[in-house]
Amino acid sequence: MYVPLVLTTFLDRAAELYGGKTAAVDGERTVTYGELQYRVNQLSNGLKALNIKKGDKVAYLSPNAVEMLEGFYGVYQLGAVMTPLNTRLTAEDYEFILNHSESKVLFADKTLFKQLEPILGNLTSIETIILHGEEADTKTAIGYENWLSGFDGKWFDRVEVDEHDIASLLYTSGTTGNPKGVLLTHRSNYLHALSTMHHLRIRENDKMLHVLPMFHVNGWGSPFYYTANGVTQVMQRKIDPESIFNNIKKHKISILHMAPTVLNMLLEYYHLHKEECRMDHHVRIVVAGSAPPPAFIEMTENELGWEFIHVYGMTEISPLVTTSQITSNDEHLPVKEQQRLKSKTGYSLIGSEVKVVNEAYEEVEKNGTAVGEIVVRSNNVMEGYFKNPEATAETIQHGWLHTGDMAVVFDNGYIEIVDRKKDVIISGGENISSIEVEGYLYQHPDIVETAVVALPHEKWGEIPHAVVVKREGSSLTEEDVIAYAREKMAHFKAPKSINFVKELPKTASGKIQKVQLRKQLWNDSD
Ligand code: ATP
Ligand code: MG
Repeated sequence: MYVPLVLTTFLDRAAELYGGKTAAVDGERTVTYGELQYRVNQLSNGLKALNIKKGDKVAYLSPNAVEMLEGFYGVYQLGAVMTPLNTRLTAEDYEFILNHSESKVLFADKTLFKQLEPILGNLTSIETIILHGEEADTKTAIGYENWLSGFDGKWFDRVEVDEHDIASLLYTSGTTGNPKGVLLTHRSNYLHALSTMHHLRIRENDKMLHVLPMFHVNGWGSPFYYTANGVTQVMQRKIDPESIFNNIKKHKISILHMAPTVLNMLLEYYHLHKEECRMDHHVRIVVAGSAPPPAFIEMTENELGWEFIHVYGMTEISPLVTTSQITSNDEHLPVKEQQRLKSKTGYSLIGSEVKVVNEAYEEVEKNGTAVGEIVVRSNNVMEGYFKNPEATAETIQHGWLHTGDMAVVFDNGYIEIVDRKKDVIISGGENISSIEVEGYLYQHPDIVETAVVALPHEKWGEIPHAVVVKREGSSLTEEDVIAYAREKMAHFKAPKSINFVKELPKTASGKIQKVQLRKQLWNDSD
């Protein structure tokens, strides 16, 4: 018999098996799985009363919060599509995404909503705005709690939802250009959840802290498998190392997912406040993608004692597609060797196939040096980009999704990302991986953060340039960094120029926006 793989079954299971258990902690507030399902039913009934139907888009502008978790299942029960908004965009970006997605209802955190005030008059599809944290109705919006309390939570008359129906419309990080709207089905989100919960060995007694923003695909995929297993999910509303360490201690967190830039903040904080951060070893694993420098992996495991799990993925794949966990093949290796292996991108998750191909579409040789593009065939791949058939046709070819990420493969099948196609620096005909150069620079004790980008050059075509955040009080100069780099790596890879900044531009998911840096540098050199 055909059982559609729909996401609401995760909450149904949790409410049945773990009804009295804490589902979510948000500041002082706790909600059990039973209460969560009650509120979710109220939300679905409320949306139905607003005439929201299958396929309609419902937008969310929220930090990590209980209301976001309610939104997932409340929207999916109706067969409607959830569209989260990045909380750090400009008013113009919000206008673009809300209109482009054709969202009908907007749920917004009352503080974040202020950012939208200048563009409210330009919204073409939003019919209702509902504010989290606002009791009473305002001139422009409805107060969430009051509104919710008007609907029954014991029961919701389910809408028939198929696994091929669209569940989520997620916009990409916008690291390389304008964000693109990615359409993901219930089936792709569901199978991604099953395969990831297997690889991360999720258990009922895990306690997880939502550090990655849930509006971004990396934070988006995880509530499904934590809910299915009855895990208590703690909401980290603000990214601040002191508060993250406090939450880890207070709630005996066992698993965290985060961007390497946030992990870097935690490590920096830890070095300055070792005594306060000391804790019993309840943290089991930390999961991170987005090119973590090898030095972070060593520090996390050796100093914090947390097992590091390196993952790779993208919005278009729900997101995860590889992991670099150590298998019995490599268990005999010394710890340092294992950590080096973990810094590579690893092997594919169950349910996904990954190949590295050259321009002739042949798999590259598994020798660790031949570079090709990563292409993916997976249960987790998107249906396409919303209202952008050209970009979809460019990205999905011959049934494979082209990631735009360049990689090599080793004889044991391990993949290692070299760089994004767009970030590779081509200097005097040599390809230089910006990620590799950054990895070396991160070993310098006075370099806190760095990004290496191409700078146009008359003779070489392009040269590597490093933008560096140095440790406070350090007297590091451009000459020092160049000399250090020339000692550590082949001379053609070593940055030829450096500039120091207080901070690097980042996306809300914590990625360094090299496209911004290039714009600034290229304009400056005009
Ligand atoms: P946009 O597509 O709008 O430019 P984006 O590609 O950053 O933004 P995401 O879908 O959030 O949007 O990110 C996916 C990309 O992040 C991947 O294609 C890859 O370049 C990078 N990435 C993710 N994980 C890793 C990793 N473990 N190592 C190296 N790069 C990674
Ligand atoms: Mg991308």
